[in-house]
This record gives sequence, C-alpha cells and structure tokens, in this order.
Amino acid sequence: MPEFLDQDIKFLPGVGPKRAELLNKELSIKTFRDLIYYFPFKYIDRTKFYRIAEIHSQMPYIQIKGKIRAIETVGVKNKERLSARFFDDSGSIELVWFRSVKWQKENLSLNKEYIVFGKPSDFNGKLNLVHPEMETEEEMQLKPVGLFQGYYVTTEKMKNKYLTSKTINKFQLTLIQLAKGKIRETLPEPLIHKLKLTSLEKALTTIHKPENTIDLKNATFRLKFEELFHIQLKILALKSKRESKFKGFKFEHVGYNFNTFYKDFLPFELTGAQKRVVKEIRRDVNRNVQMNRLLQGDVGSGKTLVALLTMLLAMDNGFQSCIMAPTEILAQQHFQSVSQFLQGMNIEVGLLTGSTKTKDRKILHEKLESGELQILIGTHALIEDVVVFKNLGLVVIDEQHRFGVAQRAKLWQKNDLIPPHILVMTATPIPRTLAMTVYGDLDVSVIDELPPGRKPVQTWHFFENKRKQVLNFLRQQLEKGTQIYIVYPLISESEKMDFKNLEDGYKQIKEAFPDVEISMVHGKLKPNFKEKMMQEFKAGKTRIMVATTVIEVGVDVPNASVMVIESAERFGLSQLHQLRGRVGRGAEQSYCILMSSYKIGAESKKRLETMVRTNDGFDIAEVDMKLRGPGDIEGTQQSGIGFDLKIANLGKDGKILEFARNTASEILNNDPNLSKEENRLLLKNLLALKNTDFDWSSIS
Ligand code: ADP
Ligand code: MG
Repeated sequence: MPEFLDQDIKFLPGVGPKRAELLNKELSIKTFRDLIYYFPFKYIDRTKFYRIAEIHSQMPYIQIKGKIRAIETVGVKNKERLSARFFDDSGSIELVWFRSVKWQKENLSLNKEYIVFGKPSDFNGKLNLVHPEMETEEEMQLKPVGLFQGYYVTTEKMKNKYLTSKTINKFQLTLIQLAKGKIRETLPEPLIHKLKLTSLEKALTTIHKPENTIDLKNATFRLKFEELFHIQLKILALKSKRESKFKGFKFEHVGYNFNTFYKDFLPFELTGAQKRVVKEIRRDVNRNVQMNRLLQGDVGSGKTLVALLTMLLAMDNGFQSCIMAPTEILAQQHFQSVSQFLQGMNIEVGLLTGSTKTKDRKILHEKLESGELQILIGTHALIEDVVVFKNLGLVVIDEQHRFGVAQRAKLWQKNDLIPPHILVMTATPIPRTLAMTVYGDLDVSVIDELPPGRKPVQTWHFFENKRKQVLNFLRQQLEKGTQIYIVYPLISESEKMDFKNLEDGYKQIKEAFPDVEISMVHGKLKPNFKEKMMQEFKAGKTRIMVATTVIEVGVDVPNASVMVIESAERFGLSQLHQLRGRVGRGAEQSYCILMSSYKIGAESKKRLETMVRTNDGFDIAEVDMKLRGPGDIEGTQQSGIGFDLKIANLGKDGKILEFARNTASEILNNDPNLSKEENRLLLKNLLALKNTDFDWSSIS
C-alpha cells in the first residue's frame, strides 16, 4: 500500500505541475517524502525584532517593525525599481524591489504597520533591504511560521520563477499539516523507547517548524542519528556477512622466518604502536576469516616494517605475499628497504613493475607459479592476468587511495577458493568518524607514534617580504650539507602559467645558488627522465630539487631536510602535509617553509596556521574535514560512496556517528540476521537501501 508520503509533489496544495517540475529538476524533489526530507540549512529567530538604528550590513536576516512613509518607482523601463522609505522610531531604511514592481506597488500601503524581513546590504554607502518579505501583523497571525523560520537552499532558476526559500517554507507548513498522523515510524518502537528518541512525525514537523530550541535539538538528533544509524547498520551487516561467507587462511605458526628476523635482524626495537598493530594483525589472520584491515599511519611511522613482518608470518605458514605500490619509484623503494631488512636471511624478493624486462618478467612469473618466489613487490603490473601465484595468502596495498575499487577487487581473485588477507596501508590519515564510514567494513589500525629520535619538522609561514632571509637560510643549510626541495603548485586549468612559475623559480634559484647542482622535475617530463632526475637527487648528485607536486608520493631522501613550498595558499591541507612528510626522515632537524602572497583568504590562512601549529596528521585531517567537508577529503571520492547525507555531517557529528555505530553493532550482536520481531523494521529498511545505494561490499 502506498504511503501518504509517496504522493507526487504536484498534488500538494499550492504546488501544481509547473512548480513540481521545477522542484523536480532543480532539487530532485518528486514526492511528499522528498520535500519533507528537504531540511532547512538554518533558522531565523522570528521572535526577535531589531531597531533600524541597530542595523549594519554584516547582519544576516533581520526583522524590523514599522511603516512605509514614501514609495516611488525610479529608473527607466528595464532598470525600473521600486523604492520605499521605511521608518521605525529609531530611524529609516530603504526597501527595494527590482522585480514585479507594479504588483508590489499596488499591494503595499503607506502608513500601515508591517513586519519586514530581509538581509541588510550596503549600496553606495547606504543600507537597504532588497526584496524583503512584507507581512502585516494579521497575516503573521493567520499563517504562523513558527518561532524559528526555516531557510532552504534554492537555485538561481528557482528564484527567477519566484520559488524562494519562503515558498518552500510555505509548502513545508502545508505538508506537515496534512501529514498529521500519517507518517509511519521508521525505527522500532523499543529502540525509540530505549534511546528516548523523538518520534519521526514529531521530528519531521519540528525540523520545519520548531517551536523552541529544545524540541529542535531533539528533532535534529533523531534525524541525524537515524541517517547515520542506517548506514552503519548496513556496513556492519555486510561486514559480518562477508566474514561468515568468506573463509580466510589461518596463519597459526609464528615460525622460523618471523622469529629469526625479529630476534637477529631487526635493527631496532619496534615502537609501541607497531607492536600493537602487529598483534592486531596476528589476531586477524589466525581466525579462519579473511582479514580486511586498514593501517593508517603518518609518513615515516614505519608501516613498511609492519607489512614485512606480516609477510614473514605468511611465509612461515606456507603462503606467498605481495606489496602493491601506486608508482614505480615507490615500488622500488619498498623493494630496496625490504631487501635491505632481509639481507642475510636468504629470502628472495621479486620486483615487478612496468619497466621489468620481458625476460626477467618471464622468470618472475614462473617462480611465482611454482611457489619458489615468496615475496613480490610491484606496481599495477601485479594485477595483470598473466601473473599467477601458487598460493597467495596476503596482499599489502600501499597508499591505498590511488587504487580504484575495481583494481583492488581484482587482487582478491588471485586466489581461487579463499581470498588472500588484505592489508591496506595509507599515509593519508582520515578522521576516525570518516574512517568508520568510508572504511566502515574494514578494521582499522593506527600507528600513532613515530620511531624514537625523530625531530618534528619546524614549520614557518612567510610572506614575500622575507624572501631574502629565506634564501640566506637555504644557503646556510646547503653549507651544512643538506638537500632542499622547492615545490611549486600545479593546477591544471592554467598549466602554462604554473609552468612559467616553475621555470621562473628555477631561474631565480639558479641565480641565487650559481655553484649548486639543481634538478627540475614536473609532470610534463617523460616518466623515465623524471625517474632519472629523482634518482640523481636521491643519490646526492644534485642538491636542490625544484619540482611540482610530483614529488608528493612517498619518495624517501633522508638527507633532504628542508622543504620550501611556494604559493602555499594554493595547496590543500592534506597535500601540504603529504609534502612536508618528504622531510624529517633523517637525524637532522628539518624545516618546512611555507611562502604565500599577502592576500590570502580565511581558509588558506587557517590551513597555513594549522601546518605551523602541528605535525600530527590526524589533527590536520580533522581540521581539513571541517574546512572542506568530508566529501572532498582525499580518499573518499575513490571510495565510491556518495556523501549526500541530508542532515548529518561527518565533520561535526562524530559523537552521534559513534553512538549510531555502537547501537547498530549491539543490535547485530544480539540478532545477526535481524530476524527478531522487534528488528523487522530494520531489516526492511536495510533491504530497501540495498538497491539504491552504493554496493558497500565491494570496498575491499
Ligand atoms: P612509512 O611507510 O610509514 O612512511 P617507513 O616504513 O618507510 O614509514 O619507515 C620510515 C623509516 O623509519 C624507515 O627508514 C624505517 O626503517 C624506519 N623505522 C621503522 N620502524 C622503526 C622503529 N621502530 N625504530 C626506528 N626506525 C624505524
Ligand atoms: Mg611508506
């Protein structure tokens, strides 16, 4: 039976076919339900009246009470506008209309008391209200808007057709009136009772027409909770389904390779965080269920070593493993550091990338298929169908956000019957709340501790007037023998200009340091040549690397301890943090210098301040998410999850999210298949979500 809310929006009194079409096209509002779930983005307190003398142009919407003393049409034909002088006992202000001038003029009366509602703006040094809402006292009483009036996002097209926030507000008031007693509850009664939630009907009514702040708070909580709860329930249900469906290899022995390496070859003590994570992984791989674990840790926190220990564990249990890195240079780096760690252990490590020669490739393929080769490191080349493993038990994916979901899924299939354990490593920390959603079906481990002896990178922010001092500082550092990165932004829309900046910068540096070898690297270079330049810098043949963001990815040059970032205001926060991660890898004190123009916006300023304030990737990620909203955070786009949350905000509602997740988890623990009577409604919702949403299960 169709529900009341399923009705076509055109049948709502006052809407009609034309406006229905507009609502449909502009806001995807097709039904009563769509409308009632179209929430205000803010509220205006309609109980508060300002005096005209108090008004200034920075104010948001305000309400004043008074009378029009004079009204006239000014300007000619197309530029015609209606101008009214509005008084209260403190002064006067101009009211202006550019549209429906004639109609407005006929309908407004002089010396009659109006309540005027609008946003003050500054026009040639004088204040006015453009297209204010005019209501008489009687009108206000006839159609009460509630103490707080909701404000709704509308589009330019809608405004042109007079479909404003106020119109939507009216539709909502009509709708909640009609919907009384007809809105079906979507959460089970026992749950509502237990959590003391507002009923759905009350919540939806209140969100559009709040009578007081307490009701509004409760309504908002109920709606946010529900939105997040359904998602978490779905993620957790899928996770438990996957775990019961897919078996996993059991790595039960801690054997010769792991122990020998740990006791005799590990050159240092693991950090506490590394130990904890290794334990978490060992628990995962020892319970017959496929591991799907995300390992988050700032650059330099020692993720590779954790991966290596896990690979040795796989080996001890007779399984092959691989590390997949997003670029050739990163694959090489992993190869080198893993080979170095394993020196003397008599374990062969393979490297397979795009530039592996056909002959070598063939040998690798054979050794993998026969099981002779136990550890393979490489790039995408690993996923090609020709690569066949004898017994792949573990896949480590580095810098996960650079791989698409499909690519990861392909790796799963590298072992026929039972999928390999998956360890995803990322150096882009994402806030916990976001991880719970984006990677909600992965278990998350965090390395939140750097190896001892690292000195935090010193970060400064300078304007152009300090250029000379900066160059002097660089000279001192060069004399001490360090290497330097100088990074320029690259924004594709004006590539030419960016390139010019880079070349100018290069010239400038060349002039300032005529006797120093300099490399220049940018995205336009042939990959081979770029590699070569990077290698030269790494080998210390060149001392300064002038580059665009191509160096962002985990290149490791411990001797490079200074980074200058030009036009730093043009970089995103997570990008700045990634870049800074290139320095601070050696024993020397490292520095990061952010150069910016004088004119920077508030957000840029916040980004630079944050960089100066902290080195903590999670802290930075939190700030980033608050500045940009979660949908823009690196790593979320690729996840394939739409962030079209209607009311909850992952940046701000972390507490509610956690609560929702715990609630969902508790319910599933007691009733894994949601088969109990009291959870029937939840099962129904879950099934309904299934076909419309992203297929969460395909996140590896
Ligand atoms: P990540 O991959 O997390 O960026 P790496 O694994 O590359 O970090 O580690 C950075 C450096 O720190 C490497 O040179 C590594 O050998 C070293 N390292 C890792 N763990 C420790 C530790 N517990 N103590 C000292 N140095 C460590
Ligand atoms: Mg790394």
